[in-house]
Amino acid sequence: MHNFSNDNPLVYTVKGLCRVCYTCVRECPVKAIKIISGQAEIITERCIACGNCVIVCSQGAKTYYSSIEKVEDILLNNKQKILCVAPSFAAEFTEIENYRIFVGMAKELGFDLVTEVSFGADLVAQAYKNVFENESTKTIITSDCPAIVNYIKQYHPNLVEFLAPIVSPAIAIAKVLKKKYNNDAQLVFVGPCVAKKAESESFDENLTFSELRLMFEKHNIIPDRVTAADFDKPISGKGAFFPVNHGLLKSLNKTEGFGKGEVITAEGKTKFREAIQEFENGVLKNQHLELLCCDGCIEGPGMSVKGQKLVKRMKISEYVNNKLNKLDNEEWEKEKEQYSKLDLTREFCTNDQRLPQPNEYEINNILISMGKVKDKDMLNCGACGYETCKAYASAVVEGLAETEMCLPYAIEKLHKSNEELHQSNMQLSDTKVALKQSEKLASMGQLSAGIAHELNNPLGIITLYSSILKDELNNKSELFEDIEIINEQAERCKTIVEGLLNFARKNKVTLKETNIVEFIEKSFKSFVKPDDIQIEFNYDIKCQLVKLDVEQMMQAITNIEKNAVEAMPNGGLIAISINEVKGSFIIKISDTGAGIAKENLEKIFTPFFTTKGVNKGTGLGLPLVYGIVKMHKGKINVQSNNQPDNGSTGTTFTITLPK
Ligand code: ADP
Ligand code: MG
Repeated sequence: MHNFSNDNPLVYTVKGLCRVCYTCVRECPVKAIKIISGQAEIITERCIACGNCVIVCSQGAKTYYSSIEKVEDILLNNKQKILCVAPSFAAEFTEIENYRIFVGMAKELGFDLVTEVSFGADLVAQAYKNVFENESTKTIITSDCPAIVNYIKQYHPNLVEFLAPIVSPAIAIAKVLKKKYNNDAQLVFVGPCVAKKAESESFDENLTFSELRLMFEKHNIIPDRVTAADFDKPISGKGAFFPVNHGLLKSLNKTEGFGKGEVITAEGKTKFREAIQEFENGVLKNQHLELLCCDGCIEGPGMSVKGQKLVKRMKISEYVNNKLNKLDNEEWEKEKEQYSKLDLTREFCTNDQRLPQPNEYEINNILISMGKVKDKDMLNCGACGYETCKAYASAVVEGLAETEMCLPYAIEKLHKSNEELHQSNMQLSDTKVALKQSEKLASMGQLSAGIAHELNNPLGIITLYSSILKDELNNKSELFEDIEIINEQAERCKTIVEGLLNFARKNKVTLKETNIVEFIEKSFKSFVKPDDIQIEFNYDIKCQLVKLDVEQMMQAITNIEKNAVEAMPNGGLIAISINEVKGSFIIKISDTGAGIAKENLEKIFTPFFTTKGVNKGTGLGLPLVYGIVKMHKGKINVQSNNQPDNGSTGTTFTITLPK
């Protein structure tokens, strides 16, 4: 036997093969599986070696320690080699017609003797009978299944005292064989059980049927080519019923109720736990528990074929009934008598692996963090491997599970991050547009700074001299009108150049605390308002103080207001509002003017774009506004309708400024 430990585990994960489907988490009766770096890993000290995870993993990511190499070594040494076969072999090697051929194959492999475990079961059955019939016996839990023994030692240590103090059939037969044959014979057990590999030191090595099959294959041992032989002694009887349910009772000549109390049989990972729980709760009084971890040993993880339980039972029945028909009762009784004094007692110690029960508060916090607040949020879908959301949350508290294992939660999270991704994509494309715009503006700024600078002086001189000439000329003179045009046009050029210079200068802001309401009110005085245009001003803000570059922002706001006036030659309404949203001020300036054509919407911030005809617009107003708003780390948007069919026409500029 080996000392299995974390470094040398009995059942373990084959790294890389696990696809984290949580099936093993679901099937593990003792929560001994934890997701670590994307792999479902077995926590060795919690594992009871039942092998359920090995059976259910479709990826072959769970496996157990292989004894093949050690057995090959044993077969090479010159000591006597005895193979001890568990009775479920009849359910495993169904393709071999006669058990005698199976024995021949084992001998061909190199075993000197091939014996049956069932004689051990015969002896153990007698020992149980004695215990049951003893008046002072209260209640007993059978201890022949090593995974059940592990389970009780680890998770119900207070019940260890109820475990039948009797060795398993395998240990019993090992004792018999050491007496009957050579004391230093090499004993190898073969059966359907993985937990057996760690049960005792009675055997030098414990194979599973699957491993024995591999060895037959490797050594090319096939049924047709071997010499059939009988099992070596001791002969055995009903003990061979052990691996099927009520097996123990069958071998005691009983099928139900026994002695003072009843024997309750429970098999399989759910039923055996329920039975133990009820037993612990005191529901099952004066009753004995016959427990098997697998669905009978014939469903053990070391069987190469899963399922087909009925066929397997039938094969065992066939084998045992045949055997019983031929049984030499006298010899059997004699053999039993011979070993009746054998010490079959055994003691169990506890190995408490219970985790402290997480408190409700911690469990609730986890549930809430996964958005499970109301009863209807508890889907109890089992996708995570736990039966209920609550059991799962408590496993998270215990450090055995992670919140990512909740499928509905993960899907919701995925949706959310999809949405976020979408949002940031949108933002990105907005930013791209803005970037293009500011690139344009930057190069415009440089160019216009240069030109404006050069033109400013000559234009000043032209206006100055044309004014002097105009003053000196009598307005009756023929030249007067010409000079007036020159003077007018020169003035116009100067305005454009000033605009350009303004534009080029805007590359930094000097922020000053200002009352925004007063500031907007002041802007109404900065342009000429025709009588047929009304102004409406509303605000809904808590604090009126903001930091602005007053001079530049005033220019921006009045530019928009002037545009609004120009868009309403027949009068209308300018509505201005200030609101507060999440750390920003929102200034809206709407007009009821003609609106902007769709195709022009994206051009209006481009320098020199104007629809106002020669001598009227410069196309520098909105680019300036754009630059100023951006320098305040703000945003500007425009919405407009120029189609009367779609409702009333007009334009709204929205400026968002961070506080
Ligand atoms: P300008 O006013 O010199 O034409 P702007 O840069 O201020 O230059 O405006 C550019 C263009 O945007 C205008 O020519 C006009 O077509 C359009 N525009 C701006 N504001 C409005 C508005 N409130 N209503 C309709 N069109 C507008
Ligand atoms: Mg303008």
